[in-house]
Amino acid sequence: MMTTLDMTIFEELESNVRGYCRAWPTVFDSASGAWLRDEEGRDYLDFFAGAGALNYGHNNPVLKQALVDYIMADGITHGLDMSTVAKRRLLETIQRTILAPRDLDYKVQFPGPTGANAVEAALKLARKVTGRTTILNFTNAFHGMTLGALAVTGNAAKRAGAGVPLLHATPMPYDGYLPDADEDPFLWMETILDDASSGVDKPAAVIVETVQGEGGVNIARPEWLRSLAHLCAAREILLIVDDVQMGCGRTGPFFSFEAADITPDIVTLSKSIGGYGLPMALVLMKPELDQWAPGEHNGTFRGNNPAFVTAQVALDHYWSDTLLAASTMAKGELVHRNLIELSSAYPGLSTRGRGLVHGLVFEEPSQAGKVCQVAFEHGLLTETSGACDEVVKLLPPLTITDSELEHGLGILAESVATVCDGVLK
Ligand code: PMP
Repeated sequence: MMTTLDMTIFEELESNVRGYCRAWPTVFDSASGAWLRDEEGRDYLDFFAGAGALNYGHNNPVLKQALVDYIMADGITHGLDMSTVAKRRLLETIQRTILAPRDLDYKVQFPGPTGANAVEAALKLARKVTGRTTILNFTNAFHGMTLGALAVTGNAAKRAGAGVPLLHATPMPYDGYLPDADEDPFLWMETILDDASSGVDKPAAVIVETVQGEGGVNIARPEWLRSLAHLCAAREILLIVDDVQMGCGRTGPFFSFEAADITPDIVTLSKSIGGYGLPMALVLMKPELDQWAPGEHNGTFRGNNPAFVTAQVALDHYWSDTLLAASTMAKGELVHRNLIELSSAYPGLSTRGRGLVHGLVFEEPSQAGKVCQVAFEHGLLTETSGACDEVVKLLPPLTITDSELEHGLGILAESVATVCDGVLK
């Protein structure tokens, strides 16, 4: 075990682009469930879960056993888009545990393994199928860092990195973005879409997150999403739900749009779909939209078969019944109650959330970062989100225990007290 923290090689050799390691300045070594351990033996409770890629926790034993067995049996590791036994089992499991019970008729595309890969594929497909170019996106959206995905992303700092104009996207106000828009939240959107002189070309698709994770835990109401789906269907505009962060049970049900009772034309999944934190992504599309020519959208790393194994076992283990969804809602209630209590104790603090994604929102944005810093020092990993990093975002593994949740919420409360009582100001 090391006694002094040696960051030299990271600082000297690794690019300046690194980010999370600045918020959590230690060297992590191992992890289990909701906990990470650094090389000095300090434990950290993880309220970030790999940015939503570890919904089933670190090194989940059920998934780990399946993965180790598969590797030891010389199962295919790299498979391009070849048919493999692991992929067959996964497709059958997706059909049985996810699509059939929800009466969903989707074809399944395996794009490159990141969320941005899935979003790029979805946008490209929508444009190909409709023959149109424009995409309507939403304020504060986040869809990834590649150019197409960045074009439909709101954050100015992220967009600035593109280096080229980000085109063919027209932002619309997300639910709650405009004050007093509750009466008719789609008045603007409908008006410009139905006015041939509005200057907005008919879009190929609308892309939306049901809860904006990176954008600050902004939550779209089910009725808002239903109106959006209706608006799109009535005008033959495709509806893409980006479920990269909020899918795989983060908000309770497997798909985050289930609560709104809508059926998107295209769905993107990544992060926790691989189950174990291994890279994997999916694009689900209504069968009539599957107009790809063979190989028209390809990529070397579309066949991460070890991820297919852990994805399949995760679906079988956690999604053959409704227990995980119910426990996520119950744990979400526990978090919500705690955060309501905490936010009502301090001025300038509020909270919002759904399932196991919650935000603690600070009127004074700098306090959110300070709270994360103090929380880290006390052994809790949290990150900020939102346009001004004004929200402490809580994204614990769905498999976390109630006592672990309470422990982390206790550290959070202490951290808020430290910051809001002025010690760090
Ligand atoms: N879409 C959403 C909603 C996301 O939250 C993210 C990642 N935070 C992405 C797309 C991009 O995923 P990736 O970082 O794997 O490219």
